[in-house]
Amino acid sequence: MSHAPATVGDAMRHAGQAGVDRLDAQLLLGALLNQSRSWLMIHDDAALMPEQARQFQDWVARRAQDVPLAYLLGQKEFHGLMLQVNEHTLVPRPDTETLVDWALELLAATAPARPEVIDLGTGSGAIALAIKHRCPTATVEALDLSAGALQAAQANAQRLGLDVRFHQGDWWTPLAGRRFDLIVSNPPYIAGDDPHLDALRHEPLQALTPGGDGLSALQALVEGAPAHLRPGGWLLLEHGFDQSDAVTQALRDEGFEAVECRRDLGAQPRVSGGRWPGSA
Ligand code: GLN
Repeated sequence: MSHAPATVGDAMRHAGQAGVDRLDAQLLLGALLNQSRSWLMIHDDAALMPEQARQFQDWVARRAQDVPLAYLLGQKEFHGLMLQVNEHTLVPRPDTETLVDWALELLAATAPARPEVIDLGTGSGAIALAIKHRCPTATVEALDLSAGALQAAQANAQRLGLDVRFHQGDWWTPLAGRRFDLIVSNPPYIAGDDPHLDALRHEPLQALTPGGDGLSALQALVEGAPAHLRPGGWLLLEHGFDQSDAVTQALRDEGFEAVECRRDLGAQPRVSGGRWPGSA
């Protein structure tokens, strides 16, 4: 578009012509003008300041290139917490709340008074922070390989006043000799040749896919967990909609008990887990 949109109505038409969803356009414009969607709907004639119009044009152009809305806004709500996100962190998905809810159930029902929990591949810190927020008696730690992700996660913890300890490293390496009551992870699990990766190209590739058939990180987590779980401790893993058979089978083969899979908000099998019966 050659000239900047002068009003809310112009801006919405501009976004539509660029192929940006109406809802996304309203959320961007609402954030820019500090107004609600319902206000926008009845203020077509409200004027935009030139800087607002320029910022909106820039956001629309980037959204049309599949940049996630959360990166443009710089934040994403997850399990009741507002998290800051950037290009170093996977955008937290509502489906991952299934994993948090299951973890909270386990902590309420079975764990010791001060359970020790670790989130492997924490990204923005979403899972670890949500668990600490809702279960303050738990000692929660989190790990990621990416320094950029850890910086974002640490900043989120500090801003939200949640005491989570962070480590940098590759899965189990920094945790030698440590055991936990609950291990949770949303690892990279998309297959390396999955065509959906193109639409996710602005998110960190290493958070999305381990390459190959997408199962290698899940497999490494299942195999490594027994050496890091206390007897009766649980491992919960998010996975792809078509990976539940592979993950539940791997858990059983490894010796986990009470293995089950739970569905996400779209009714897809999304999180599998099991209880570790004894020491490894
Ligand atoms: N659930 C995400 C997606 O399909 C992927 C997250 C992941 O690989 N851990 O977009």
